Amino acid sequence: MSEERLVNPQSAQDDASVEHALRPKTLDDFIGQHRVREQIDVLLSAARKRDAAADHILLSGPPGLGKTTLAMILASEMQAPIRISSGPAITHAGDLAAILSSLVEGEIFFLDEIHRLPRPAEELLYLAMEDFRVDVVVGKGPGATAIPLQLPHFTLVGATTRAGLLPSPLRDRFGFTAHLDFYEESELEEVISRSATLLGLTIDKLAIGEIASRSRGTPRIANRLLRRVRDFAQVQGSNALSHQHAQLALDMYEVDAKGLDRLDRSVLIALIERFGGGPVGLSTLAIAVGEETETVESVAEPFLVRNGFMARTPRGRIATALGWEHVGRTPPPGIATLFDTPAPDA
Ligand code: ADP
Repeated sequence: MSEERLVNPQSAQDDASVEHALRPKTLDDFIGQHRVREQIDVLLSAARKRDAAADHILLSGPPGLGKTTLAMILASEMQAPIRISSGPAITHAGDLAAILSSLVEGEIFFLDEIHRLPRPAEELLYLAMEDFRVDVVVGKGPGATAIPLQLPHFTLVGATTRAGLLPSPLRDRFGFTAHLDFYEESELEEVISRSATLLGLTIDKLAIGEIASRSRGTPRIANRLLRRVRDFAQVQGSNALSHQHAQLALDMYEVDAKGLDRLDRSVLIALIERFGGGPVGLSTLAIAVGEETETVESVAEPFLVRNGFMARTPRGRIATALGWEHVGRTPPPGIATLFDTPAPDA
């Protein structure tokens, strides 16, 4: 299910080549995230002055906000090569040792989903980050010996959607942690406008605003919705994207004015209509909408909670006043004051 969703913040197969073309190549081109940009700018200038590899950097934040893009910008600003891998792709410590020992001086090593690195690989990484060394174990059992292997000075750029899941020894080895936040609508408008130019599209201001407001604060979704609106307009025989194209296309793809898609809405409607607004357990809710618990938990719920449509309580999930109103129902009295704000842990 999540692979087909237009509002899935993860990269889908058909995104890959376009994403590459739309990725900002310099820090100046990178829209929003002013604090992070400033911090990285200082870090880069200092590293250039010292003529040394930059400190290891941890980028945390939800998918689609620009972590990979920033790693690539770092490499190009440092004029350094970049190697890309991810936690789940490294199944043994040996895989990681092989990558590390083939890096060159100053190389950027981008390790996505670093929280999913297997434990033995993580331990090997500690030494590599701190002393630029790995111990290669030769042989087995009591006769095994560790041969130290010196590594070139590289910069590890770790990315994680779940910084809280990183063990502190790993977190502490990063010289700098940057947290990426969801984008403001005005920033998404800039992203869309930039992408439209790169794709050679003409688009009016209202259409840009319409797409931005349905993009869940996420540039990857904004770019994807822009492409769907382009397809829709082209099928209509138009090369200029109007507000009406944006509205009709996104309504057709069932992404509503607040960025909720069919799954989000069916969860909210089930919660309200079948369970009187809750509280109800997540697995019961998932059965009611005919989805896996995992899908509801990882895909619909975080967005609904973050945007204040739904709240988590110790007794289960409940719909907020905003949630009731969004599906056209009057909230029961009292609910507005209790649950109108997003949960702090969302
Ligand atoms: P992540 O690694 O966090 O999942 P990516 O770096 O792959 O996200 O970003 C997804 C897409 O969103 C990129 O291809 C890029 O086009 C766009 N994007 C992300 N951040 C920005 C930004 N700050 N400015 C412009 N485009 C961005």
